[in-house]
Amino acid sequence: MAIAHALTIDVEEWFHDDWRPARGVDWRDLPSTVARDVTLLLDLLARTGARATFFVLGDVARRQPDLVKRIAAAGHEIASHGDAHRLVPTQNRAEFAADVRDSIAVLSECAGVRIAGYRAPYFLRRPRDLWAIDVLAELGLRYDTSYAPVRWMPYLGRGIPRAPYRHPCGVWEFPLPFAERFGGWNLPYAGGGPLLRFLPYRVVEQALRAHEAAIGPAVVYCHPWELDAEVRSLPGTPRHVRLWKRLGRARMLPALTRLLATFPFRPIREVYANELAA
Ligand SMILES: [Zn+2]
Repeated sequence: MAIAHALTIDVEEWFHDDWRPARGVDWRDLPSTVARDVTLLLDLLARTGARATFFVLGDVARRQPDLVKRIAAAGHEIASHGDAHRLVPTQNRAEFAADVRDSIAVLSECAGVRIAGYRAPYFLRRPRDLWAIDVLAELGLRYDTSYAPVRWMPYLGRGIPRAPYRHPCGVWEFPLPFAERFGGWNLPYAGGGPLLRFLPYRVVEQALRAHEAAIGPAVVYCHPWELDAEVRSLPGTPRHVRLWKRLGRARMLPALTRLLATFPFRPIREVYANELAA
């Protein structure tokens, strides 16, 4: 039987991920599209028999608790994307702990289950940010899937961990996959733009097959807003960020449908059940 990969979805509004919070903009005044986009995803997952881990932002759960309940009731895993979508290195240890703790509280109340996993907004990029993992352990979390020690552009870096491993504090890391290229280049295909919006479908499928053969299951991710044909940006968002978010939107839904029909996808708690039981 084909091995199952881990599909993960960072549940946030289109404005949560907008480069940096625009000053003077109150999130409560902005139109919410997350429920509509998540509903589209839930329908697609139901049609293809796939299940996923949804890393839900506490801010979304607090405003739309029924959305979290619907995701959990459909057999998906609920995990934490933090509370306010703040870049981890801009917070001190106490602020970060409070942000994650608040998200765990609201998510476990909505979903009625214990929260085990975390993904950092904008990921963790530097070894010196790994103090955050110790905080996850203190809060009782079991795994992280945020640490990608590559330079953001152009994804340079050698020795990127590819297989699951345990941090010294005991928290598991399930790394995002990169395809290694000559000269230390890494081709990201795990999510965001490169998964299905920028890269041809064929390239993603080949990369996943290669990862499967060499290492085992891969973790891929997307955002609900990537399925929205209408592109929204906050005022002041730089042009390259707008472009990054806009490119390939029309391709996303058909390509994701094809990917889910080709590979089995399951939540992290099932794909890595053996690791998490250890
Ligand atoms: Zn995010």
